[in-house]
Amino acid sequence: MGSSLLFLRGSEAASMPAAQMAGRQARIPQISLRGVTVRYGGTTALDSVDLDVASGEALVLLGPSGSGKTTILRSIAGFNRPSAGRIALSGRDVTDIPPHGRGLGMVVQSYALFPHMRVAENVGFGLRARGRSRDEIGRRVAECLALVGMEGFGRRYPRELSGGQQQRVAIARALAIDPPVLLLDEPLSALDAPLRSGLLEEIRNLHERLPQLAIVYVTHDQSEAIALGHRIVLMREGRIAAQGTPRDLHDSPPDRYTAEFFGQANLLPVEPVGGKAPAGLIAVRLGGQRLLVRARGDGAMPRAPLLCIRPHDLHLDGAAALPEGPVNTLEARIVSAQWLGTVHRVQAMIGAERMRIDLPGGATAPRIDTVAALRFAPERASLVEGG
Ligand code: ADP
Repeated sequence: MGSSLLFLRGSEAASMPAAQMAGRQARIPQISLRGVTVRYGGTTALDSVDLDVASGEALVLLGPSGSGKTTILRSIAGFNRPSAGRIALSGRDVTDIPPHGRGLGMVVQSYALFPHMRVAENVGFGLRARGRSRDEIGRRVAECLALVGMEGFGRRYPRELSGGQQQRVAIARALAIDPPVLLLDEPLSALDAPLRSGLLEEIRNLHERLPQLAIVYVTHDQSEAIALGHRIVLMREGRIAAQGTPRDLHDSPPDRYTAEFFGQANLLPVEPVGGKAPAGLIAVRLGGQRLLVRARGDGAMPRAPLLCIRPHDLHLDGAAALPEGPVNTLEARIVSAQWLGTVHRVQAMIGAERMRIDLPGGATAPRIDTVAALRFAPERASLVEGG
């Protein structure tokens, strides 16, 4: 899954003869992991991971705590030596190269600015270490502070900045050496919710201004992953569980693990049934009821199939405007309804199965113990692998 069309960085493409360019098909990933395994004593933190990241791509590593996300990031940066496997940057094998030889930018959760250095000195640190001239450092520091909206803060000390401002400076510092790759490890997790969404937006804007930059972003928060990622890699116990665009994984999760990681999902066991269905749809049976749901891309029926439908895609009686075309209807007994302002959170029984329904907060609350017609559009329901 994911894009296989990859691009060279501009500078590499420019220095490469045309024939060689054609030969390489401009498909060399910016980052490439092959069979990367990392063990800590008896724990296998990563189990033979294969992963490519293209130049210009924003890749999000998503998963619960302990699933191996940070270990991938640290392996790319060079802070972990894999027990097995190889890592390449722009086609160059860097498995045995220490972090400072890889020239990547990295930002971690807890700002990690040098407290005794002013902002400008922090941002210029990597350039000084590389022996750049004072003029060049001054110019580049100003550019990078402007890039993160922190111009005019160069003379402050980190303690004179808010958490969000410190994190912007940390990003400017990581970008100062003009790295081809920016690695971000839960960069928003130490910030309050309003600051988090603001900085996430900033990172997106920043990426638009640096279109060649490959970003690898670690988070356990699916909404951050959806907002930022061109592609999301969902981790589970040191392995890649699923990967795809945010929309693919949210709307068409391959399995129960992915469906549940991407927000609330009703997952109900169904049986395949034969017979004709409109194009792109497939018929299944839930209890005694025949339903139409979206067919998978490959048309195959998953193992132990579960119907997956999100609570906000379910509608009661005639309350909602459903799209034209076939509509599924189930008889539902309302067992609870709670008004939370923007939504009514409703629980209903379909036979022996419980379903969660989110109705718009402005709708009339359904009455407990009544039977209602539960409706949903086939396109909003998918089939996932159970078990
Ligand atoms: P995540 O970033 O998804 O939370 P990590 O990559 O940090 O996960 O960790 C993956 C697994 O490796 C976990 O089981 C964790 O406990 C273990 N682990 C990570 N770092 C170390 C370490 N330095 N020593 C021992 N075990 C570690």
